[in-house]
Amino acid sequence: MRAMPREPRLPVVSDVPERAMVVFAHPDDAEIGSGGVIAKWIAAGCEVTYVLCTNGDAGTTERSLTPAALAARRAEEQRAAADFMRVKHVVMLGYPDGFLDDTREFLGDVVRAIRQYRPHTVFVHDPYRIRNFQHRDHRKAGLTTTDAVYPFARDHLHFPEHITQEGLAPHKVRELWYWGADEPDLIVDVTDSIDRQIAALVRHESQMPGFNVATGETIGARLKRGAAALAEGYDFQYGAVFRRLIARR
Ligand SMILES: [Zn+2]
Repeated sequence: MRAMPREPRLPVVSDVPERAMVVFAHPDDAEIGSGGVIAKWIAAGCEVTYVLCTNGDAGTTERSLTPAALAARRAEEQRAAADFMRVKHVVMLGYPDGFLDDTREFLGDVVRAIRQYRPHTVFVHDPYRIRNFQHRDHRKAGLTTTDAVYPFARDHLHFPEHITQEGLAPHKVRELWYWGADEPDLIVDVTDSIDRQIAALVRHESQMPGFNVATGETIGARLKRGAAALAEGYDFQYGAVFRRLIARR
C-alpha cells in the first residue's frame, strides 16, 4: 500500500554561507551524508573544507587486501571525490578505522581545523541517533565535533597553544548541521546537485560493490529514491534533511 503524500513540514533552507566544513569518519561518509548540499553550495561560491578522521583501513570484505593497501586506495579515492566536488581543502587526520575515540588529541585536531579554515557551518554525523545501528566511529566523530564547535574552538583558553604557538585565532562556528538525524528540522532542495553528489560518490570505487550486492540497485538509484521520498509534498524533486544547531550571536 502506498503511503499518503506527506505534507511539507520542514522549513526549506536556501541560504549559502561563505565557508563550510564537513567532518566525517570514513572516506565516502561526506558524499553520502552531505554531498548534495555541498555540491550545491560550492556551485554557489561556498568554500568547503573536508576533515576526514580515519583512513578507512577496515572497510572491505576483500580478504586479500592489506589494511595499508586499502588505506592508500581509499585516500586516493577520497582525493578524487573531493577534487571532483571542487572541495578547497582536505585534512586527513589518519586515525585507524574503528579506533576513533573522544580523546583530547582528536578534539584538538578538530578544533585546529576549525580555527584554521573558519567555517560558518559545520556538517557531521548525528551522534545522538538511536533508531538505527550506527558505526562507533560515526558517534565519536559527531560527539567530538560538537564539542570542538562549542566551546573549544571558540574560547581562546582551550588549546591555547594553537594561538600562542601556531598563529591561529579562536573561531565561532555559527551553525552545526547533523546528517542521519532521527528528527531532522530542515530540508534543502538538492534537485540540481544530486547527480553531482552521485558522481562524486562513485569515485569511492572500493566501496561500491557492497552497495549493489543486496538489492541490485545502484547507489545512485538508491540515493535518488531516498531523496525523492524526503521531497514528497514539496515543490522540488529531491531533498536532503538535517538537524541544525544555531549559535547565539
Ligand atoms: Zn562511515
